[in-house]
Parts: sequence; C-alpha cells; structure tokens
Amino acid sequence: MGSDASLNFVLEDHPSPTSAADRAALIADPGFGRVFTDHMVTIRYSDSRGWHDARIHPRRPLVLDPATAVLHYAQEIFEGMKAYRTQDGGASLFRADANAQRFRELAYRMAMAEIPEDLFLEACRQLVSIDRDWIPSSEGGALYLRPFQIASEVFLGVKPASEYLFMVIASSVGAYFRGGAPSVTLWVSEHYNRAGPGGTGAAKCGGNYAASLLPQKEAIAEGCDQVIFLDTIEKRWIEELGGMNVFFVMDDGSMITPPLGGTILPGITRDSLLTLARDRGLTVREERYSIEQWRDDAASGRLREAFACGTAAVVTPIGRVRGRGGLDITIGNGGPGIQTESLRTALVEIQRGLAPDPHGWVERLF
Ligand SMILES: *Cc1c(COP(=O)(O)O)cnc(C)c1O
Repeated sequence: MGSDASLNFVLEDHPSPTSAADRAALIADPGFGRVFTDHMVTIRYSDSRGWHDARIHPRRPLVLDPATAVLHYAQEIFEGMKAYRTQDGGASLFRADANAQRFRELAYRMAMAEIPEDLFLEACRQLVSIDRDWIPSSEGGALYLRPFQIASEVFLGVKPASEYLFMVIASSVGAYFRGGAPSVTLWVSEHYNRAGPGGTGAAKCGGNYAASLLPQKEAIAEGCDQVIFLDTIEKRWIEELGGMNVFFVMDDGSMITPPLGGTILPGITRDSLLTLARDRGLTVREERYSIEQWRDDAASGRLREAFACGTAAVVTPIGRVRGRGGLDITIGNGGPGIQTESLRTALVEIQRGLAPDPHGWVERLF
C-alpha cells in the first residue's frame, strides 16, 4: 500500500457556505442523520497508486458509473462516532482510534484496501475542524461522523475491487431521546438471523443492515420498537439488536453480555461500559445468555435490568421482550433501571468532558 497520513489534504473552498443564521436554525433541533455539514473528505485508492488524492471539499453528490462494483456486490463498510462540544467551546473525539482500528479490520474481512489508522483519524480531525461550527452545544447534541468506504471500480466481475473511495461526512445530531432514554420493547426474531458463524456479523457493512430491515419491519408490525436476534444454530442464545449490543443486570449488581466471537459486532460503547463497570468493582461476565433464562430470571426477579448500547443512542433501557408463542417478558418494572442510568451517566460525562478520563478515551481537538 502506497501512502500514509503524511498525505497532504487539498482544501477546495466552499463557494457558498451555509450562513450562520441558517446553520443555527438547522442545528437547533437536528434530530438524527438529516442535517449535514458543508464539507466532506474523500481519499482515493487504487492498487497501482495506493492511497492518494486526499481532499476536503464542499459536500456534493457522487457521480458513479452504473457498473460501479459497490452498487452490485455491496463491497462497502462504514463507521460511526461522535465529536463533542467541550465546556469551553472546543471540541473532542471519543475513542476514534478504536473506530480507526475496527475500520481496518472490517476492510480486511470485506477484502478491501485497508486505510492506515493515522490517515483515517486525520480525515476525521480535518472535517471536524473545518465544520466546527456545526457541533451543537445543546445538551445531548454532537457532530456524528460517518466514515465509509466503497468499491469504486467499474467492473461487473465478482472479485475484490482494485479501486476504492474513502469518505467522511458529518451530521449535526440532537439528543437521541429527549429527557432521558425511555425503555424500548424488543421483538425476538424467529425466522430471520442477523449473522452466522464465519459470516460478516462482526463487520459494520451495509449488507448486514439491509438483511435486518425485514425482521425490523416485522418487529414494528408487532407493535415493538426493535428486533433482537438469536444465534443461528440453537436459536436460543441472545446475540444483539440490529445495531446495538445488549447487557443484562442481575440482582447482585453483576452484569452479563454475550461474548464476541464473530457473530456479534464488537461495539466500542459495549467495551467502554464493560470497562466502567469493572472500574466500579462490578462482576461482568461475557457469557452466553439464553432467551429461556431471560424469561425465567425476569420472572424470579434475579434479572433486574437490561439495556442496549451503541454510539447513536449510547444506552437504551429494555423494558419488555415479546415473541411468537405468547412470549412476553417484563424486566423489572418495565422502566429504566438504576444501574443502567448510572452507567449511562458515567459514560456520557466522560464523553462530554464533565468527568475525569482515567482511560485516555477523549482526544481534545482544539
Ligand atoms: C455499530 C453497531 C453496534 C454498536 O457499536 P458502537 O461502536 O458502540 O457504536 C452494535 N451492533 C451493531 C450491529 C452495530 O452495527
């Protein structure tokens, strides 16, 4: 592979940046994933030139030949992380180095060119820097960064592409849930799986999400909020949601989360919460947990709380789980639990620079 982070970023000036007044109106109540900043980053790769042509330029549509490989065979990966406004008006990133490393591992699994971690990070820093005014300072607001990479070779043969386009776009986002996270009801998918052994379950690739949409639609049709997937072999071990990992809190304060191992996405929020729980001296087991056990433990009171976690919503309490055959589990009193709330607050305060950062997770940008 040719280049590295020493690649110079060419800046193309924006001919008509959003006015301060328009921007203020857009980011006052941005929701999630609809308000985009003025700029984006692109970096090209070809087998012959390596990584080259790094640019920060006005955000604009892509022009792709209809035979571009990604449109047919979905050779595509993405990441998601947040930049936060600090108390003094600066900005910080949370564990972006972990995203950079995961992105390289995803690229390997999808037989794509692996972007050096330094170059990935530099692209993110540059975009946050130029679009710094788009980071909301409202409580719960952040600048959501979406790095992604597509196979850009124009060829209909099935093979790893010889050309890729790496991009970063940014979206001003508000608090995912206003006034604290309400608890969600999950639907246990019976017919559909998310990932099997040896598959791409550990990769943040578009294809996994496409495959989760029908079961998610089924969950909504059943009056639930989200789908939860079981393992593909025995159909009883809890894996994760379509885009969030899951934790169980027991009556002695100990916690259980399903082990990684190829079929579950190694969430950075999951890892951070595991670390914070261990810091508190809680026993945390990465151990298989079955749907029958979930039902029995919720009924006996041994299970007190359950929650899902990921970058977008951080922590979401799980109040109820339903499934075919009348399966209906209420966890605790069905509302957010104390330990869930406490861990969520601890993580959010580190992310926002309101609490000490003993693990060196926060990178101050400016
Ligand atoms: C992104 C994602 C997560 C959460 O990962 P974070 O790094 O915590 O944002 C969990 N499960 C799936 C399937 C995901 O795509």
